[in-house]
Amino acid sequence: MRKKIVAGNWKMNTTVPEGVSLAREVVAKAGEVPSDVKLIVAVPATHLVSVAAVLEGSAVELSAENCADHEKGAYTGEISAAMIASTGATYTILGHSERRQYYGETDEKLVEKARIAFANSLKVILCVGENLEEREAGKHFEVCESQIENVLFKFSAEQMKDFVIAYEPVWAIGTGKTATAAQAEEIHAFIRKTIAGRFGAEIAADMTILYGGSCKPSNAPELFAQEDIDGGLIGGAALKADDFIGIAKSF
Ligand code: PEP
Repeated sequence: MRKKIVAGNWKMNTTVPEGVSLAREVVAKAGEVPSDVKLIVAVPATHLVSVAAVLEGSAVELSAENCADHEKGAYTGEISAAMIASTGATYTILGHSERRQYYGETDEKLVEKARIAFANSLKVILCVGENLEEREAGKHFEVCESQIENVLFKFSAEQMKDFVIAYEPVWAIGTGKTATAAQAEEIHAFIRKTIAGRFGAEIAADMTILYGGSCKPSNAPELFAQEDIDGGLIGGAALKADDFIGIAKSF
């Protein structure tokens, strides 16, 4: 049985004290969420240590938003997977469209990053998704397929259990435009089929595939009711504990 996950991506928001109080609120309300739904908060690197202390003893897991594509060394300003793991984080997001778009994150780099993340016992939330132009040109299937092939297919069947996929249509991120449940389900099912084609039906059935893009308490129930949507990667709405928890209660 694949896991249901609701992960908050705080992006470059909140100071450390603000992040600590948001994490406290999430922990305080986490008991309202069905026990088969895993909660994760992905926080800025500066917040990892302090938020880890808040999450200790709770079921809420901690994620970074990115990690370096090198193990260690002279890479000023970068944060390594080992550093992230040493804070108590268990996940890192990789390949968020904002990183692909603004920081030149290529599929090749993502393979390196995921390899190093796994070597340091971090699990990876791998984001894929098409932009508006690609959607309008009817290329959304091929864009997602190539992102999956270029990254996921570079790993073994055994390593699939350490990946979570987040389908995030770029045109729906932070725009208020959500993909309809049918549009999202169509791509989720396609991603699962693509994974099955390479790794077999059993591994594909076990893969958690999240939807991300203007997900909120009002639209989460319809999205999460779809066969192949196993939860959400939540941006803006994760900055309010009530909304984040409300989304996680939507299954
Ligand atoms: C995201 O950036 O991962 C995201 C889904 O953002 P939002 O929910 O704000 O669209």
